[in-house]
Amino acid sequence: MDQDTRGRFAARNIRVIDTAVTEIVADDGALAGVRLAVGTVVARRLLAVATQMQARTEGLDGLKLPMEDLPDDMGRRFASAMAGTTDVPGVWVAGNATDLTVQVGAVAAAGALAGAHINAVLAAADTDAALTATQAGATPA
Ligand SMILES: Cc1cc2nc3c(=O)[nH]c(=O)nc-3n(C[C@H](O)[C@H](O)[C@H](O)COP(=O)(O)OP(=O)(O)OC[C@H]3O[C@@H](n4cnc5c(N)ncnc54)[C@H](O)[C@@H]3O)c2cc1C
Repeated sequence: MDQDTRGRFAARNIRVIDTAVTEIVADDGALAGVRLAVGTVVARRLLAVATQMQARTEGLDGLKLPMEDLPDDMGRRFASAMAGTTDVPGVWVAGNATDLTVQVGAVAAAGALAGAHINAVLAAADTDAALTATQAGATPA
């Protein structure tokens, strides 16, 4: 922890204990505190831990979707552009796979936008195919 952060914690009267935590202590199935490497137990009713987030990529490796690192060691995500488009044709991404910090409302909106874009691309492809067929002499369906 750098001096700036220590100063900010001190200004809010937050105590910093540098000793490593070795064990979560439970009492009757509920959190009671944490045991430090020196053996002391610090009583606590709540515990917050910093995690490193990672997009779920299992089963998708074969698509070779480009990934990128988030700033400040926050994790990795699928790289995407407007409406969730990716560098891989036919693949869109939305939600935590491409933005690990968004919550449900934004995830649903990103999914809806990707869906609308997919629909537009498919409609344009159908029109391209119909135009090609018409120019080749076929009667429009
Ligand atoms: C502890 C915690 C608390 C949170 N609290 C809130 C909150 O209070 N309010 C809020 O709005 N948001 C909250 N969020 C965030 C919210 O959960 C996410 O923003 C949201 O679930 C992301 O939706 P998603 O569809 O992108 O991903 P997910 O919900 O992770 O859905 C992805 C799905 O894809 C499946 N999957 C993965 N790989 C494959 C594959 N290869 N084939 C088929 N399926 C696959 C997974 O099993 C999963 O079911 C919280 C998140 C966490 C971790």
